[in-house]
Amino acid sequence: MKLFTYQRAKNESDAIVSGGTYLAGGTSLVDLLKLEVLNTDRVTDLGKLDLRQIEADAKGLTLGALASNSAVAGHGDVKQRWPGISQALLSGASPQLRNVATVGGNLLQRTRCAYYRDLGTRCNKRVPGQGCDATEGWTRIHAILGTSDKCIAAHPSDFCVALAALDAVVHVKGPKGEREFPLTDLHLLPEDHPEREFSLNDGELITHVFVPASPSALKSRYVKARDRQSYAFALASCAAGLEIAGGIIRSARFAMGGVGTKPWRVAEAEQSLVGAAPSKAAFQKAADLALRGAKPQGENAFKAELAKRCVVRALTTSAEAA
Ligand code: SF4
Repeated sequence: MKLFTYQRAKNESDAIVSGGTYLAGGTSLVDLLKLEVLNTDRVTDLGKLDLRQIEADAKGLTLGALASNSAVAGHGDVKQRWPGISQALLSGASPQLRNVATVGGNLLQRTRCAYYRDLGTRCNKRVPGQGCDATEGWTRIHAILGTSDKCIAAHPSDFCVALAALDAVVHVKGPKGEREFPLTDLHLLPEDHPEREFSLNDGELITHVFVPASPSALKSRYVKARDRQSYAFALASCAAGLEIAGGIIRSARFAMGGVGTKPWRVAEAEQSLVGAAPSKAAFQKAADLALRGAKPQGENAFKAELAKRCVVRALTTSAEAA
């Protein structure tokens, strides 16, 4: 690990002024610092900040950036009114990690591409312009949507998939003030610059995430396919929520994980469900639309079909709940 200056922020303003790399739970960052995959001059510890709120009201759910994944997943209101979020969190990592990992850290976690973490290989995300050994290498866990010729790394989060499906909004504070934007705008496509992963400006601190209340959130479900039953990243996953009235789908939301370079949501696929009766045929059509632009590479060709099955399963379980 390379030397850096450590400081503990007293409050949000202090953190923003201090800048550097923010440390929350540290479940991802500390590993990357030890491996020297990420290097920084300064680490600002956010542990003392009052950002652990989990609050639900008629409008929606507010999750402080430092609320732990366990606390969110186990919260009564989250389990009842946003069950897809609870299920997504519980499907990730291990209980020990979930006790420490935070909302903000989950949003900003880095890819699990093995080449990214191996300093002996070429990686454009780690060293811009170096090249990408994954494209000619082992691609089983890599993305099939949103890729570029510079990077095919899959986004690793389960939580972000549920947040993307349920229209979550990210709130940040920075040197130029406060702003908010849809979670679907937080993660950047790799395009020509895979080293740029987030739409945050220098010094900006995620303070909380807001998830609106909705009938589809109430019936949301998360389905994840992986190599092991626990402590494994998604090969493919889907968070889905349907609002059904009078035997007709009134609104539909779903997003996919494990297959995209960011949590993947396709408006056209969701729209195809609105006005239809819930049926396997309608769900299959939506799944086909969602995967239409898929570009499998090498060993990850199976992901397209697997993702479609996750979509159909998640929509089916949401419809059963609705
Ligand atoms: Fe790096 Fe992306 Fe290539 Fe993986 S896929 S080696 S993260 S550039």
